[in-house]
Formats: sequence, C-alpha cells, structure tokens
Amino acid sequence: RRLPELSVEQYVEAIVAGDITRLSQAVTLVESTLEAHRAKAQAIIEGCLPYAGKSIRIGITGVPGAGKSTSIDSFGMHLIRQGRKLAVLAIDPTSEVSRGSILGDKTRMEQLAREPNAFIRPSAAGDSLGGVARKTRETIILCEAAGFDTIFVETVGVGQSETAVHSMVDFFLLIQLAGTGDELQGIKRGIMEMADGIVINKADGENVDAARLAAAHFRNALQLFPQTESGWEPKVLTYSGYYAIGIKEIFDMIDKYRHYTVDTGYFELKRQRQAKWWMYEAINDALKHSFFHNEAIKKLLPEMEHAVQSESITPFVAAHRLLSSYYNSISQGTTY
Ligand code: GDP
Repeated sequence: RRLPELSVEQYVEAIVAGDITRLSQAVTLVESTLEAHRAKAQAIIEGCLPYAGKSIRIGITGVPGAGKSTSIDSFGMHLIRQGRKLAVLAIDPTSEVSRGSILGDKTRMEQLAREPNAFIRPSAAGDSLGGVARKTRETIILCEAAGFDTIFVETVGVGQSETAVHSMVDFFLLIQLAGTGDELQGIKRGIMEMADGIVINKADGENVDAARLAAAHFRNALQLFPQTESGWEPKVLTYSGYYAIGIKEIFDMIDKYRHYTVDTGYFELKRQRQAKWWMYEAINDALKHSFFHNEAIKKLLPEMEHAVQSESITPFVAAHRLLSSYYNSISQGTTY
C-alpha cells in the first residue's frame, strides 16, 4: 500500500520527527530524474537545512575486497551500542553501468541492516559522478535533519569518486590491506594525501604481523608528506573488521580529530569551503547540462568535431563557434 503524498511542510515535519519511511521517500525524490520531483526535493532540503549539520560525516574508501562492508558493519555496531544513530550512504559512479550498486548494499551489512538506529541507502544511480555525488550530499542533509548523528559515505577506491566524497565529509578514512611489502605502490598519492586516518584491515590470525609492518610503512610514507593544513597528523592503525578488534581505537581517533579541529576552527572552515565548492559544482553542472542539451549545439557538435579532427579548423575556433551559437540560441529564448 502506497502512502499518500505529503506536502513539502509535511515531509519536513515527518523527517525532523525521525520518520524513516518519509526520509526514504524524500531521498527517492532527491534521486529522481523527474523535474517535478527534483523541485519538491529541493524545497524539502531547504526546509531541513536548519536542522542539519550536527553530525560527524565520515568518508570511507578502499579497494574492492579491502573489507569496507564488513568494517562498516562492525563500525556501525560499535556506534549503535553507544546510542548513536548512523546513516550509511554510498557513492558509486559505476552504478548506472553495473545496474545496481554493490556499495551500501544492505545484505553486505548483516548486523546493521537489522538495527532500527541505522539507515542504509545504496548509491544513487546517475550518468555522471557529479550527479551521483550531489544526490548523496543532499541525502546527508535529510539524514542529519532526521537525527542521524553519524554519517558514513562509502566509496570504492578507484580514483575520482574519492575527491567527491572528500568534498562532503569531515573525516576521510582509508582502508588498506597488508600486502607483500609494496602496498604503497598501487595507491595513488592523491588519495593518501586526502586521508585523515589510514586503517589496515584484517589484522587478525596470521595477518597481525604483516598488518603492523604495513602500518609502519604507511607511517613512514606519511612523514614525507607536507604538513596538513589543519595541523592534524594523519594516524595509521591496524584492526580487524571481521573480528571487531581495534574498532574503538579508530573511533577514538576520529573523536580526537573532531575535538582538535573544532577547537582550532578548522572543522567549520572546512564545511564552509565545501559548501562553496558545491555551489561552483552546481553551476558547472547546470551550465554543462544546458549547453549539451541545447538543440543548436546538438546539431552543430558533430560537424565541429569532424572539422577539428580533420584539422580544417582549430579546437579553439570550433569551441568559440559552438559557444557563440549557444549564446545566440539562449538570447533568442530557444534553449530547447
Ligand atoms: P569490500 O569489497 O571492501 O566491501 O570488502 P568485503 O567487506 O566484502 O570483504 C572482502 C572479503 O574480506 C570478505 O571475504 C570478508 O569476509 C573478508 N574480510 C573482511 N574483513 C576482514 C577481516 O577483518 N579479517 C579477515 N580475515 N577477513 C576479512
């Protein structure tokens, strides 16, 4: 049975009262591609904004198999036992291609999925990372308004999506595995530089020594990095997500980071910058969307591509012509 549609005000009221069913519905509106839904979603987000912001937002990344879902299950249970309320969101830029995201999948977080104080939402689908990321950022606001005090944003360690996650979280946690001594090789410097904490998973049984060794390697590598802007020194810890060993230490670290950055003012500064960054992202996205969906552009683009490839005009002249044609069609009011 479908629930009756609510007004924007009713949605906001229900979300702020902690109504999870309505929260889910509002997230569905956020994720919708229908213009009417999007407009309603924006109004709900605006209504929720005064109640949002009071959480710690934690980004969690690691390559497939690093143990993200196993760890999030254990991390989450640790928090729930302390009386916290946790929302687990995900950013998976490949979700459109792979038809159904593997990130933030409830079946992979068996204990958390049964917890009423945990809200798990798989990655939104979308044709661009920017779009998927925006929806997740907006979902954070709704979750915070609903009283979730801890937000996890999970992503897979393959590159660009980390930047998107980094731009919406307070603390960025990188999950690594001990390898053959060359564990630093495969990981991109940029990702390590983003990390506020690096945690080596599967430090259990015969793996314990290897994990400790890997931790030492990471600590050494981090020392070569310039000092972080916040003044916080990223920590390296070992733990076992599966056996739930060393979890408390990870959250002690995150609490320490929070206190430290709140005291210095960096916590707030970072959120302000992120807000500004998202404004520019939104502008970029909207302009791009408007440009590439413009009828005049759609017609002219193949021709210009061809001309550039056959070197009959330069890329800059082609770009200029396309932009002129776009501006003309805009000023004539024929955008579609
Ligand atoms: P994800 O792809 O990063 O989400 O990784 P999963 O959580 O699915 O874990 C990948 C595999 O590693 C699974 O077979 C897990 O059972 C195993 N695993 C995860 N955490 C641990 C751990 O702490 N110790 C051990 N020994 N295995 C683990």
